Amino acid sequence: MTDSPAPAAPPARVDLAEAPDTVLAALAALRAHDAPTHGGRVLSYVYDPGVPELDELAAEAVRAMQPVNGLDPTTFGSVAALERDVLAFARDLLGGDEDTVGTVTSGGTESCLLAVQSARDTWLAARGLEPGQARPRLVAPVTVHAAFQKAAHLYGLELDLVPVAASGPAAGAVDAATIGARFAGGLADDVALVVVSAPSYPHAALDPVGQVAELAARAGLPLHVDACIGGFALPFWPDLPAWDLRVPGVTSISADLHKYAFAPKGASVLLHRDRDRQRAQYFATTRWPGYPVVNPTLLGSRSGGPLAASWAILRALGTGGLGTLADRARTATLALRDAVGGSSGGSSAATGIEGLRVVGTPAGPLLAVASDDDAPAERRVDPHLWADAVARRGWVLQAQPALTQPDGTRLPHTTHLTVTPVTASVLDDLLPVLTGAADEVRGLPRPDAGALLGTLPPLDAGRPLDSATAAALLEGIGLGGVGGVDGTGAARGVGPMAPLLALVEALPAALVERLLVELLARLVEPHTG
Ligand SMILES: *Cc1c(COP(=O)(O)O)cnc(C)c1O
Repeated sequence: MTDSPAPAAPPARVDLAEAPDTVLAALAALRAHDAPTHGGRVLSYVYDPGVPELDELAAEAVRAMQPVNGLDPTTFGSVAALERDVLAFARDLLGGDEDTVGTVTSGGTESCLLAVQSARDTWLAARGLEPGQARPRLVAPVTVHAAFQKAAHLYGLELDLVPVAASGPAAGAVDAATIGARFAGGLADDVALVVVSAPSYPHAALDPVGQVAELAARAGLPLHVDACIGGFALPFWPDLPAWDLRVPGVTSISADLHKYAFAPKGASVLLHRDRDRQRAQYFATTRWPGYPVVNPTLLGSRSGGPLAASWAILRALGTGGLGTLADRARTATLALRDAVGGSSGGSSAATGIEGLRVVGTPAGPLLAVASDDDAPAERRVDPHLWADAVARRGWVLQAQPALTQPDGTRLPHTTHLTVTPVTASVLDDLLPVLTGAADEVRGLPRPDAGALLGTLPPLDAGRPLDSATAAALLEGIGLGGVGGVDGTGAARGVGPMAPLLALVEALPAALVERLLVELLARLVEPHTG
């Protein structure tokens, strides 16, 4: 609307290779084979509020911002105005005050990366060091989102991962004293940042933010709370200890707009309590012959679309609407927790699905389900066989591998469910599916990766795999043809998760990571012939 009217020029004609309708029909044909993004059938990746007007509103907002470049808010003032409003909303919701500042980023990963980069550069600057001259530590529980592993990798930090409780009501949450011991006394000096989650993605565990914040503040260390998934839902959860900027020692917090604020993908906020720590996140240079560069985020040119959609949704919903949607997701989450049954020893275990249990005490609209070790082996349900049986009934759950922690204890393999407001309206369909799928696979053993491992040729562990060898290995374990799109446009998925995840756990991490890279890279290689 603010686009200045251009002088009327004759519309330039261009011969199109294909008519727009034909192109859009081809797009629709591809989309038709995707997992459904609406209706609650996919319990991860997508956040369906179940309110079609919000989708329409977001689409119109994206359209209105389509030609704008968010790179320069001095040229496109709307970008700055929208960002200010979104940050103010997030600041008020997350317990900030008039000194709280922040940035709208492209997503949770970017918010986490920037939190780490700012902390590292603040740490280096305080010591008069340049990047590369020292490797400060990033201290976090093992359950912290993989984005922090990526940050440590990219920014040259030592990742110091702290084990979490492996069982009991606090399973999946870090113990404050355990993480505090990593930076107590003389150990604090090489620590650039401490991170905890509210809640963690794998198990929905709310880390003890208040206690860790006290220990971090006493050691003079910044504390980031990763509330990427919980940030727009936990404010409406009853009976939680304080976990946001209301806690004095919390120095920054991330919250994804494209999760429980229901924005289209590409929007998250990172808030800092301290202006200087936020300024440290910027990159600026005048040392090239082009325009002076001042980037608050990793990108240069950036879309204003997800920002505008976030702004529109928050404005339309307000805190009240957001709370109503969070309540719906909470109702569904509690119903699912009851249906599956509590952690071992918990009172509800006997009334849930025999052979399964919810891990720990989830906070927020997500949960992890493990096999119930207290049940006799022939009555146990493997969570990945269960997820595959649920998938055969048309619902998609997310398989998570087991993990051996640095202290040798083992976090079990689990199945993850992210619960959205729309889940509440499909519970009558979903609950019998969860029960029926468990009945189908109860007592069945998990696939044994050993047989497949035996088919692998001997590998030189020290040598990086080249792409041809990686592809041959994938072929050898039956994953050669995975992915891609067949002649009809139908996606060919990876198939059952149980054997794949067993393999992920059995192979050395570096090898399986390289194989997964190959799998995903081949998915987008241009077809020949
Ligand atoms: C989703 C998530 C992230 C990463 O967010 P993306 O938007 O997927 O990049 C980080 N932390 C937590 C806890 C998350 O749930």
